[in-house]
Amino acid sequence: MQPLKYYIRTWGCQMNEHDSERYSGMFNQMGYLEVSKIKDADIVLFNTCCVRENAERKVLGNIGRLKHFRKKKPNLIIIVAGCMMQQPHVIEIINKDLSFVNLILGTYNIHRFPQLLEKALKENHSKRPLVEVWDQAKNVVEGIPSIRKFKFKAFVNIMYGCNNFCSYCIVPYTRGRERSRSKEAILEEISTLVKEGVIEVTLLGQNVNSYGKDLYDEYDFSDLLEEIDKLDGIKRIRFMTSHPKDATEKLIDTIAASKNICENFHLPVQSRSNRILEKMNRHYSREQYLEFAEKLYEKIPNITLSTDIIIGFPDESDSDFHETLSLAKKVAFDNAYVFLYSKRSGTKAAESTCQIPENVKHERFDKILSELNSIAYSKNLGMIGNIETVLVDGISDKHPGSIHGRTRGNKIVTFKGDSSLIGTIVPVRIIDARRATLIGELC
Ligand code: SF4
Repeated sequence: MQPLKYYIRTWGCQMNEHDSERYSGMFNQMGYLEVSKIKDADIVLFNTCCVRENAERKVLGNIGRLKHFRKKKPNLIIIVAGCMMQQPHVIEIINKDLSFVNLILGTYNIHRFPQLLEKALKENHSKRPLVEVWDQAKNVVEGIPSIRKFKFKAFVNIMYGCNNFCSYCIVPYTRGRERSRSKEAILEEISTLVKEGVIEVTLLGQNVNSYGKDLYDEYDFSDLLEEIDKLDGIKRIRFMTSHPKDATEKLIDTIAASKNICENFHLPVQSRSNRILEKMNRHYSREQYLEFAEKLYEKIPNITLSTDIIIGFPDESDSDFHETLSLAKKVAFDNAYVFLYSKRSGTKAAESTCQIPENVKHERFDKILSELNSIAYSKNLGMIGNIETVLVDGISDKHPGSIHGRTRGNKIVTFKGDSSLIGTIVPVRIIDARRATLIGELC
């Protein structure tokens, strides 16, 4: 008998991407085969994200369209998982309007997937989805298999959940409170990955800087990084995301003294206005943020810095916006992800009566983006002539005969080369620059 084929579509952040790798791992362990086209699948799994309400509507639309596939393939199994499913109103919508879905599961019980799938397969013709969504996490479950997208680089979760309750964010409600994995489990996972050929790991957590607070009195994120840095065979260590309120000088010193931790720091600022930062419930001031950024530049001179910025947060005045604009210039970010604030029901900021009109948000967005782009471009121009070590990760679609990869500072570089170099670290001279990428030549 032919094995059943599955297709996974993922929305959202690296956490979700990594969860999808784990779904693949469990599917493969059960003997199923992955396919890249939905039309070839016997089982479709949507791993959803609920950070933006707009995206949530799109996901529901995509689930709705699966009804046509079901008409062509009456035995098609449809599974919906991820953050969106942690919200009771979404389950209600699916039960009412999209009841052809077979299985719904949330973010806390991924490890239950094999048993739930088996049950869903038996109940394939029932009129309602099988729903198992836990309202909170129990223990951190270890040992879930993963099928990683790359053989030479991998995501490693070091913690789950978030305690911060930023007033615009739904994550603490869908991913629960902070739960750190034990240092032994993390080190063992990375050692195994290295034996399998991985040379770069990205440590994941909603707020990696508070790693260990729920487990240890003395041991923190810097201590974990220091131990990973000493593992034989590891060449690059990255991490995300950092919360400025928990970022310490000890962390800067650990990066500066390490061999393998990449000189790249993603530090979401969101706004420069202390008034808005307070409304966002961020628990740091612009002064503290700037002081940390200055120390990073001082102690790690070749550090690259990226950030997240929210434009049009409720009650953001022109002068608040101009403060954020001036911070962008002062810190000279290498990269910034700018988001237009959009209401997220269930969060405190969504209840504010001081929402900013869409046209104002868009005007501010365009202005700051153009500023950030020109800063990023001039920083890239300043790299011309440098020799950078680049981990090659793929073939360039745009430039025939070329490959691309990332510097330690996380800049994308394109240069002439062939696929035999994928997964290796090579020296590349930077010969030209664009806003978002660098052009190089192999040394
Ligand atoms: S730190 Fe704030 S923005 Fe980040 S996940 Fe937690 S609540 Fe959301």
